[in-house]
Amino acid sequence: MSVHEIPLSKPDITDLEIDLVVKTLRSGRLSIGPMQELFEKMTTARVGREHAVACSSGTAGLHMALLALGVGPGDEVITTPFSFIASSNVILYVGAKPVFVDICPKSLNMDPSKLEAAITPRTKAILAVETFGNPMHMETYEQIAARHEIPLVEDCCEALGCSRKGRQAGSFGRVGVFGFYPNKQITTGEGGMIVTDDKRLADLCRSLRSQGRPVPTMPQGTVPAGSTPAVGMGGPGVAASHLGSWLTHERLGYNYRLSELHAALGVAQMKRLNEIIERRQKVATAYTQRLLDVPDVILPTVDQDSVMSWFVYVVRLSAEYTRQERDEVIAGMRRHEIGAADYFPCIHLQPFYRERFGYAPGDYPIAESVSARTIALPFFGSLREDEIDFVCRTFRHMVDRQNITRG
Ligand SMILES: *Cc1c(COP(=O)(O)O)cnc(C)c1O
Repeated sequence: MSVHEIPLSKPDITDLEIDLVVKTLRSGRLSIGPMQELFEKMTTARVGREHAVACSSGTAGLHMALLALGVGPGDEVITTPFSFIASSNVILYVGAKPVFVDICPKSLNMDPSKLEAAITPRTKAILAVETFGNPMHMETYEQIAARHEIPLVEDCCEALGCSRKGRQAGSFGRVGVFGFYPNKQITTGEGGMIVTDDKRLADLCRSLRSQGRPVPTMPQGTVPAGSTPAVGMGGPGVAASHLGSWLTHERLGYNYRLSELHAALGVAQMKRLNEIIERRQKVATAYTQRLLDVPDVILPTVDQDSVMSWFVYVVRLSAEYTRQERDEVIAGMRRHEIGAADYFPCIHLQPFYRERFGYAPGDYPIAESVSARTIALPFFGSLREDEIDFVCRTFRHMVDRQNITRG
C-alpha cells in the first residue's frame, strides 16, 4: 500500500474513541459491563426503539434474530439477491431456505410489487435489506408483512442514521440489526446491535448471545454494591451473586457477546454520529456534483422521502456497458491506486448457492444486470476535495469507451 493510495473506505477514529477504549482497558472490566449497557442505551435513544442488544457482529445479530423468531428447518425466508452475503447466509444457519425476490432498479432493494407473489404457507419471515443504506420501500414491506402476519426482519447493517418519512432505519422491522464492521457508518472493529420493541425477543437474544444463560432479572450490567468480581468459572467481571445463573444454560446459546473494549469504541462513535454522518453527506454531495454530467453513468438515486447517512457511494454504468467493461474500469482505477469495488455480486450466483440450490444466470435479471455494472468509489468522511477530484477525473477517463478498449 503506497502513501498515495485512496482506499475504498476508512474508519473515522479520533482521540475520543482512543481515550475511551484505553480508559476501559485500564478499568479492568473487559466484558459484560457499563460500556455495553451505555452503547445499547444510546442506540435505543437514537433509533427510537425500546430494546437494544449489542453483539459480536451484524451477522451474529441477524442469526439470533431469526432464532428468536423461531425460524428453522423447512421454513422459507424472503430476501434480496443483491446484498452482502451475510443477509442470506443467516437464513441457512437456522436451516431455512432463502427465497429471493428481484430488486427495483432505482432503490436496489427488493421490488415490493414482486414480494407478495413469493409468500407461501412456509414463509416464516421477510428479511429486508436497506441496500447501500437506502431505506426506500421499508414501510411497504412493513405493511405487506403485517397483512400476512409474517415478521419483518430489517437488515439495517448499512443504514445507521438513515431515515424515511421521519422514521429511523431500524424502526421498521419487528426486529432490526445494525453492523459495525470498519466500513460501516460507525464501527466497533467488529460488532452488531439488535433493536426491537419486543421485550421477549430482546431477552431471548440476550440469552442466546451468552451461551443460553437465563437473562438476569436485574438491569443488564448492574453490579450489586459491595460485590467482588468472581474468578475462575464465573469468568472475569461477573458479580459473585450472578454465579448461580452463570452456570445454568436454559437453551443452546452462543458466545456472541461484544467486549467492553469494542463497546467503548461504539459509545464514542455513537457520540459523534451526527458529525460522522454530516461529513459523509458532504462527500456524497461532492461526488454527485462532479459526476452529474458524465455520460452513461447512473448516480445513486435518493427519493424525496428518504434521508441517507451514506454507507457507500455506488455508481452504475448504463446498460450499454458489459460486465467485462465494468471490471476494466475498476481495474483501471486500481492501477491509479484508487480503491474501487464491484458491490455486490449477486448472492444466488455465488458458487456455493448455485451448487446447493441450482441457481443460474437469468434467475433474477434485474439484480444481475445491476450487479454487472455497479462500481463503489472510495468513500469515507475524511476524503479530501483534491482526492475526490482525482477519483472523479480518473473515473471519467476510465469510463470513456476508447480508454476501456485500450485496457
Ligand atoms: C455488513 C453487513 C452485515 C453484517 O456484517 P458483519 O460483518 O457480520 O458485521 C449484514 N448484512 C449486510 C447487508 C451488511 O452490509
